[in-house]
Amino acid sequence: MSLSDYRKKRNFKNTKEPAGKVKPGHEELVFTVQKHDASHLHYDFRLELGGVLLSWAIPKGPSMNPEDKRLAMKVEDHPFDYKDFEGTIPKGNYGAGEVIVWDTGIYLPAGGGTDKSENEKLLKKALKKGDIKIVLLGKKLKGEFALVNMRKDEKSWLLIKKKDEYSSGVDILKKNKSVISGKTIEMLQKSDGRKKTTKK
Ligand code: MN
Repeated sequence: MSLSDYRKKRNFKNTKEPAGKVKPGHEELVFTVQKHDASHLHYDFRLELGGVLLSWAIPKGPSMNPEDKRLAMKVEDHPFDYKDFEGTIPKGNYGAGEVIVWDTGIYLPAGGGTDKSENEKLLKKALKKGDIKIVLLGKKLKGEFALVNMRKDEKSWLLIKKKDEYSSGVDILKKNKSVISGKTIEMLQKSDGRKKTTKK
């Protein structure tokens, strides 16, 4: 999995986003969800695999309701270090706008165990099949989820919560603070001097 598409889109002199190295060497697989107010507000859902972050952009954000099928557009892999990125991507740069770490934690493939390389094998197979079943242990997102390729093209996937003890009809997106800094997108915009009126 290469980061070249990621790097091509960015000028690292102008943005504080990490240029990124492939970084293995820790025990657990990490996921992160970044709320990103670019030209359109969306949530970037990222799963560590093979030292990088597989990435999907979810316009409506994740849901804890098994009846919601949230469109997730597969985008280029991001460097592992991106998982902690929070701040403002300056105007004129790719993805310009504010980013907060909306949720993060570890995750497992469904049926996975404690062996990271075994888990990665299961995930690579699932990715190829276009049917990834995972268990998230985040601060907001918990329990089983499925990411399913829609077949019409490689990029269109759906994120669906599986029914379990954590599924619910409560709108999880109302929890709108960063799990790292406690900041909201709106707070970043204030300190940017950027004003917007329509906001979720
Ligand atoms: Mn984004």
